[in-house]
Amino acid sequence: MSRPLEILRTVFGFDRFRGAQAEIVDHLISGGDALVLMPTGGGKSLCYQLPALCRPGVGVVISPLIALMQDQVSALRQLGIKAAALNSSLSYGEQVDIERQMRGGEIDIIYVAPERLMTEAFLTQLERCQLSLFAIDEAHCVSQWGHDFRPEYLQLATLHQRFPEVPRVALTATADGPTRREIVEKLHLGNGRQFVASFDRPNIRYRVAAKGSSSRNQLLHFIKAEHADDAGIIYRLSRAKVDETAQWLKEQGFDALPYHAGLDKTVRAANQDRFLKEEGVIMVATIAFGMGIDKPNVRFVAHLDLPKSLEAYYQETGRAGRDGLPADAWMVYGMQDVARLRQMVEGSDAPDAQKRLEHRKLDALLGYCETTRCRREVLLAYFGDQCTPCGNCDTCLEPVESFDGSVVAQKALSCVYRTGQRFGAGHLIDVLMGAETERIRALGHDKLSTFGIGRDFGKEEWRSIFRQLVAGGLLRVDVAGHGGLALTEACRAVLRGETTISFRRDAVTKKAAARSRRGTQRLAATADEALFQALRALRLELARGQGVPPYVIFHDTTLLDMARDRPGSLEELSQFSGVGQAKLDKYGEAFLEVISLFEG
Ligand code: ADP
Ligand code: ZN
Repeated sequence: MSRPLEILRTVFGFDRFRGAQAEIVDHLISGGDALVLMPTGGGKSLCYQLPALCRPGVGVVISPLIALMQDQVSALRQLGIKAAALNSSLSYGEQVDIERQMRGGEIDIIYVAPERLMTEAFLTQLERCQLSLFAIDEAHCVSQWGHDFRPEYLQLATLHQRFPEVPRVALTATADGPTRREIVEKLHLGNGRQFVASFDRPNIRYRVAAKGSSSRNQLLHFIKAEHADDAGIIYRLSRAKVDETAQWLKEQGFDALPYHAGLDKTVRAANQDRFLKEEGVIMVATIAFGMGIDKPNVRFVAHLDLPKSLEAYYQETGRAGRDGLPADAWMVYGMQDVARLRQMVEGSDAPDAQKRLEHRKLDALLGYCETTRCRREVLLAYFGDQCTPCGNCDTCLEPVESFDGSVVAQKALSCVYRTGQRFGAGHLIDVLMGAETERIRALGHDKLSTFGIGRDFGKEEWRSIFRQLVAGGLLRVDVAGHGGLALTEACRAVLRGETTISFRRDAVTKKAAARSRRGTQRLAATADEALFQALRALRLELARGQGVPPYVIFHDTTLLDMARDRPGSLEELSQFSGVGQAKLDKYGEAFLEVISLFEG
């Protein structure tokens, strides 16, 4: 057996490599540089951890998130690997001690923040150590256009000059081409190999629905029906909304916490810590939350506001289901969201070219929301990847009907035109449906030729039509912020009857299909639910005792396997995925004992 495979089995407890892992590991062990693009949960860490163990010397992992380094180190130590993190939370004495251990070859993997790595003092220290490799995690932080830009990452380019013999691997889950090229250029990785995995996340079920009269009730229904005891993340656009939603969920009896940049640093850290270390916590957050969160059993990511782009959506939803078990990406959106995002783009002081780009990104996102095709197909196509209809998104599971909307669109658009292009959807719908309101009479809109020409549709259907017209770029929401709708250049062809247009018949009017899937209970369908809960309880107790997150002990996948197959001896248990030698020694007996209580 090759050495990497042997370590994979005995230390990590995994049977085989996944995807390109074996190739990447071999490439690094033989001293090559690499850029690794893999979706979240794809197994990037192993790509540098294994070579760091196989090559002599200490592997240096550069990670932007000090707060999360400790978790990585805890997870490695659970595997019996000599790992440490160097960051500002250590005392001087502790630092000196770690540096001494590095020189003495007593540490296999060291985590360090880029700003510390690039200090002259530390680089000098490194020159006195044998180094196995440099791993640059979250490598997209070098991208000046991305929202995670870290100036210190740019300096990492000089590592190559200073340590030409040491292989470097840069890793990211960010999929787009421009960012990839920027990483190669900025980190001088031109001579390295690129490993690009498929960006599909087959275990994530994508769903998008129109906002109904109460989006929070939609959310509540979703969580109650499918994720009552699960950990999840809910994204909101503003700090105020985060606070409000977290508070409300708490009142509904959920363990929900807020996270945004406006909170005190210690509160933020404490909330993050609880999310990681306890089971079933829901984090309500702005985009400030998430990078580097490697909690594997986040069972859902919900968006109550639209993300900024499909890139952001993919990244945020990607935090669900890293363990490969079923997970949900759930989103509701409405016309207000579109208007707000358009205004944000328009109102920024970015140069025009940048604004055009942002509008285009928003268009792509809206196209995704309104699609009648498989969502995964649309999402992957955006990243230059492809798939066949997936069977695991809402449009695949409950195909959306579409209908020829050319005439309806003409009615709606001419109503916008005749009322002077200054009214919002609510009023326009009233006019179309021929409502006898005070306002309509006062404005004389009951005299218009479009008054009452839309009685064949209900209010909700009209709302959906207007939303689709905005999403499709035929109507523009006035940017001044009054919510008035105006025609765009693109609608001429429709008004003249030169093109046809099709609408999706929205799920708002359809009853959402009842699906009885309850979070981990659904996962445990083939396992013994009670035993699984007992194993989880033991795991939590062991984790608390050491102040580490439960998943560094065993993942849910491993516990589910145990609950299903009920190993009866250490020998049997050692065959389970995720059970390496160190964990077997440490926890094997305790878990076997719980399992034996369920013999029957
Ligand atoms: P990433 O950093 O790419 O998001 P991780 O490195 O955290 O992903 O790995 C995701 C999950 O997959 C982890 O729980 C890890 O233990 C597991 N994993 C990685 N490689 C393998 C493998 N070869 N076999 C089984 N599980 C694996
Ligand atoms: Zn699909």
